[in-house]
Amino acid sequence: AERIRTVADLVRAALPRKPVVVASAHKGVTDMLIDLGHQALKGAFSLEPLRERHLEIIRELGLSPAIMENLLDELSSLLQGITMVKELTPRTKDYVCSFGERLSVRTIAAYFVQAGIDAKAIDAYDLGLITDSNFGNAQPLAEADQIMHWNIRRMTGVPVITGYNGKDKNGDITTLGRNGSDYSGTIIGAAIDAEEVQIWTDVDGVMTADPAVVPGAVPLATMAFSEAGELAYYGGRVLHPATLIPAIKKDIPVRVLNT
Ligand code: ASP
Ligand code: MG
Repeated sequence: AERIRTVADLVRAALPRKPVVVASAHKGVTDMLIDLGHQALKGAFSLEPLRERHLEIIRELGLSPAIMENLLDELSSLLQGITMVKELTPRTKDYVCSFGERLSVRTIAAYFVQAGIDAKAIDAYDLGLITDSNFGNAQPLAEADQIMHWNIRRMTGVPVITGYNGKDKNGDITTLGRNGSDYSGTIIGAAIDAEEVQIWTDVDGVMTADPAVVPGAVPLATMAFSEAGELAYYGGRVLHPATLIPAIKKDIPVRVLNT
């Protein structure tokens, strides 16, 4: 809740630059969802920990729990379905995983509105983030760019868009791979020809090495796209390996910042 308040201040300060927000699920939620899918597969699941996790944030922000009820009902039906068919295909798993971002953007947008920022929660696929059908590691299709460009342009207020999620041409929800919200950020930034993509995290930007492994690691002030890509490729955890590709294509600077 405290981070979301900080983000509202950041967005308010950036209003003259017409910010578009892309959000990830709350910390730990995607793991909880994957676990729920496996629980359902075994025949019984409990939504309570997930509900509690969101309720705590929603209450602390002074919002109404009603904003998550429809989604929790949908998730509950889906998990019920899994217990019955006893199958958790990659496609169904992506559908289950999508709820983290769908829940978080509704909370974030509702808080923005309460804080006086004209904002609207929206699912990336409703803006045209069409992907291939490679569930669990989907890639956006080329045509997604133009469609998102026009759809986002038409929106009034600050769009608060789901990271990590897309939909394939059959209308099935896909995900872009773990930590994919950064990638969504650059995909959307490239689609709208953003002047800059900012990735807000809870670490001090990109460091020379993993500080948990190398005590002398220091944050880097600037780096070339190729250097950042190399770090991601060799296992740096700050950026999803594909994150920089859309930014490189349009030469959009990417800034990694700590909330
Ligand atoms: N919520 C997704 C994950 O945990 C995407 C992200 O966090 O960027 O992998
Ligand atoms: Mg994340």
